[in-house]
Amino acid sequence: MKLEIKDYCVRCGMCEDIYPDLFHLNVPEDRVDIKFDEIPPELEEKALGAIADCAVGAIFKK
Ligand code: SF4
Repeated sequence: MKLEIKDYCVRCGMCEDIYPDLFHLNVPEDRVDIKFDEIPPELEEKALGAIADCAVGAIFKK
């Protein structure tokens, strides 16, 4: 599975706070980096949690 973050992400950093294995708030570049192109199977449950938890619904499964 792959993830994408939509442009309307508000850079709140919550995804990095809760799921640091998956996300990095890249402040200098003003974006959120996804740490994997293909999410490892052992992190898929966390990825689904992140999709559900993002307050503005900006994280999607590709
Ligand atoms: S939780 Fe959602 S809105 Fe906040 S930084 Fe992550 S993707 Fe963006």
